[in-house]
Amino acid sequence: MFGQFDVTLHRSSLKTTRLLRLFIIIMYARVGMKIEKTPLLGLTIDELKSVAAEVGLPAFAAKQMASWLYQKGVTSIDEMTNISLAARQRLCQHFEVGRRDPLLRQQSVDGTAKYLFPTSDGHRVEAVFIPDEERGTICVSCQVGCKMACRFCMTGRQGFQGQLTPTDILNQIYSLPERERLTNIVFMGQGEPLDNLDAILRATQLLMADYGWAWSPKRITVSTVGLRKGLKRFLDESPCHLAISLHNPFHNERAAMMPAERSYQLDEMLELLRQYDWTGQRRLSFEYIVFGGQNDTDRHARELVRLLSPLECRVNLIRWHAIPAAPSSMPSLSSAAPPSHSYEVPSLSHATPSLSPAAVVPDGSSSGLPLSDAVTFHEAVPARMVAFRDYLTRHGVRCTIRASRGQDIDAACGLLNTKEQNKD
Ligand code: SF4
Repeated sequence: MFGQFDVTLHRSSLKTTRLLRLFIIIMYARVGMKIEKTPLLGLTIDELKSVAAEVGLPAFAAKQMASWLYQKGVTSIDEMTNISLAARQRLCQHFEVGRRDPLLRQQSVDGTAKYLFPTSDGHRVEAVFIPDEERGTICVSCQVGCKMACRFCMTGRQGFQGQLTPTDILNQIYSLPERERLTNIVFMGQGEPLDNLDAILRATQLLMADYGWAWSPKRITVSTVGLRKGLKRFLDESPCHLAISLHNPFHNERAAMMPAERSYQLDEMLELLRQYDWTGQRRLSFEYIVFGGQNDTDRHARELVRLLSPLECRVNLIRWHAIPAAPSSMPSLSSAAPPSHSYEVPSLSHATPSLSPAAVVPDGSSSGLPLSDAVTFHEAVPARMVAFRDYLTRHGVRCTIRASRGQDIDAACGLLNTKEQNKD
């Protein structure tokens, strides 16, 4: 159909195409996997032009392929019916779409669905679909396991097993059975997004591109514990919302829960965040998992207000649910912390005497807990969470309590994958 034009284009683009394939092979080699065929899902429009050239198609075929991949969501090259049969056959020799169906689905009584997706290199990662009235949110993973070793997290206890490619990341979204119901995408699943930033930036770029899914950055949130290497780059290069996993405003206590705090302190991170404008479309939020008696005291509330009130931001309080064998196998933050069933709910009323400004420790290091202290976590008392939220709100920090979803299906990060691995 394209005759001589195809041949000329093919020759002139051969060098570019070889470079592209070399780039993809190197990219996959870096994460330790061999590829039989190159996945198209995850390629930019320029890279698709090189693919088109390799099989003797004109440049405009790249836009056709992008439309099939990112807008129509095809699972095979055969479905790209406005590309000639001969060209599709040539494409199939070296390329594939790269879609993989979920291996496992768990359905919660509240509508939340958890999926286990296979990755290109034979691992498995979790993605969670959370319906909520008009909204449909997917929580996406970016790594297999995680290096961050947060003490309260099952994924952190798995250790790091590998990076996800842009194809693996996009596949969780495109192969989600509820894809048509999605309104929001959050990178809050397994792994630390800033530790796989190239893949995150590429995946989000493809979601937002006109030739991609044309998804609004206002509907994408990337969550991080905060890594020195990566946060500034993300802030400079991505228009997506940012969520910081905060969980404790005091350095020593946060470091005991989240080792990442030791290499990039909250103070420094907040200083960087204050240099950016959060009054426009891009939103800044702080995730705060509430542990009963450990990070929900008056002292923590006051310090959060001190740290966050200068920022245009929101705090999301999240109820923590015990993970299997957590207390016995984890280091412990405070052995004196009471279990939730016997915890007396204190008041966070502004009339409470202990809330005098003098009680605030200005350097944010009030606990004095050594970093090596063991940590046992406790579930929060709901009434205490409400009081904590109300205190923050009264003092000018917008705060909401996130509803717990999917408790009956191991929806917390890493639980399903760990259970499946334990069966193997
Ligand atoms: S909470 Fe997030 S960053 Fe921390 S270990 Fe778990 S997956 Fe990694």
